[in-house]
Amino acid sequence: MARVEGLPGHDARVNIMIVVIGGGWAGLSCAAHLRRRTDLPITLVEAAPQFGGRARGLTWQNRLIDNGQHLTIGAYHETFFLLNLVQAPQWEHRPLEWCGIGLNQHIMQSWRVPNPRWPWRALLGMLPGLGPRGWPGSWRQSMRQILGELLQHQWRIDPSLKSASRRGLSVKEWLNHHRVPNEFVQHFWKPLAEGALNTEIESASASVLATVLRDSLGGPARSCEVRMPAGNLSIDGVDAITRWLERHNVNLLRGHRVERIVQSGDLSWRVDAQHGDQLRAINTQWVVIALPCHASSRLWSHSALPQTKPSQRWQQMDHRAITTVWVALDAEQERSLARLPQWFVLNPQPGVPHIGQVAVRRPGILGVVMSAQKVQHDSHASQHDQPLRSALQSPLAVQLRAQLGVDLEPLEQKWITEKAATWACTVDAPWPDHAEARGETGLAQLYRCADDLVPGYPATIESAVRSGHRTAEQLATELY
Ligand SMILES: Cc1cc2nc3c(=O)[nH]c(=O)nc-3n(C[C@H](O)[C@H](O)[C@H](O)COP(=O)(O)OP(=O)(O)OC[C@H]3O[C@@H](n4cnc5c(N)ncnc54)[C@H](O)[C@@H]3O)c2cc1C
Repeated sequence: MARVEGLPGHDARVNIMIVVIGGGWAGLSCAAHLRRRTDLPITLVEAAPQFGGRARGLTWQNRLIDNGQHLTIGAYHETFFLLNLVQAPQWEHRPLEWCGIGLNQHIMQSWRVPNPRWPWRALLGMLPGLGPRGWPGSWRQSMRQILGELLQHQWRIDPSLKSASRRGLSVKEWLNHHRVPNEFVQHFWKPLAEGALNTEIESASASVLATVLRDSLGGPARSCEVRMPAGNLSIDGVDAITRWLERHNVNLLRGHRVERIVQSGDLSWRVDAQHGDQLRAINTQWVVIALPCHASSRLWSHSALPQTKPSQRWQQMDHRAITTVWVALDAEQERSLARLPQWFVLNPQPGVPHIGQVAVRRPGILGVVMSAQKVQHDSHASQHDQPLRSALQSPLAVQLRAQLGVDLEPLEQKWITEKAATWACTVDAPWPDHAEARGETGLAQLYRCADDLVPGYPATIESAVRSGHRTAEQLATELY
């Protein structure tokens, strides 16, 4: 029978039936949905001292920030279902305002996307005063043409459009087919697609972008609305979930890095976790690996498990980095930025390096996001990358001075680079088949959930949460 060996606060005779490895949003969601389905003992094992993974909050200089700036919208149904379930604090709701900034804080374009459901949202957007401001007629015409195509094909890319590479169509190719004006690409489509898919438009999948547009722009009322935690992702999200899990008797292990999983007998697994200088073994019937592809692959090979179709797919996944710079503003700088919206796009300007793409204002802080970076890496662990910072710092300083009037050098800065921030949502990224999307790994009683398991969707908190739910449902069918 399954036994816990040497776990603090645990009676060695207690049976642990399900172990979830990884306490990011996928693992948290999986544990919560499993608990809704079963009273069996569940243990959630996290390597870091804190839960939340890539989407967790931090405190810096007594100010609340996140590991990287995250944008969440009303279309994240499963995420907000989970947050409601655990009675997390209410997140702020704001209309989505696409605002592009040029030199000297000049607002070049701004579009407050109306809240009513599709198609009222689009129809209202065509009324004078409610549509995008600062868009020339050619951009509006181009937008109408693209939305027309998407509607005609139920928010899919026109199948008659062919890619030169014979793979799926990239965002760049798709926009070229529509002869979208270059300025419109640079000021709207590129930041939109690269922000949503974290992949350069030359390689990013147009059909995934169409899905994102369907669920946001083409979705029900308030699906475009921006939702922001009042504090940070941990205070208003992760901590509420972990408290709920604890109240519902889910055993939470922090600081336990799983080194390998070993088949022990026909019907059980042993999970070996390193905690400080101790190696702890947890015997269990079911295991859920809630890790990104690269970490799942590493665990699989350390565990010498036989290759399966899913494990081979994880090895083929490429990744992109995101660097976020948090800058502590003084009172005067904060006042000078106060007329800008809470988050905005930094539009490219002739003669000014374009490194930072999106900026966000928080109390006393400016965050600047640099996404869709292709970087060389031998380790996918998150790290503060000094060489990358040296390369980005001076062009970013020039850009922020020119566009926002902010002098970067003397200000306190926190640089966070996640080298494998997300998997690359390219035209040739391999998608999971149905069985893998249900959480199956090809080995009995061993499941997986992660942000790459929702076919057609990019890596987001929502896909992590959805996958956690889907895998929990699948495992539950095996329990009863
Ligand atoms: C900078 C940045 C910006 C982003 N912006 C957005 C955004 O705007 N909107 C959006 O929706 N999404 C965004 N994302 C993506 C989003 O954060 C991820 O898709 C989501 O958090 C993935 O959750 P996960 O649980 O699948 O994986 P992870 O968050 O990676 O969780 C995996 C967990 O497993 C733990 N772990 C790893 N190895 C082991 C081991 N051996 N044993 C035990 N535990 C282990 C890790 O510590 C981690 O906590 C962004 C990501 C980054 C990095």
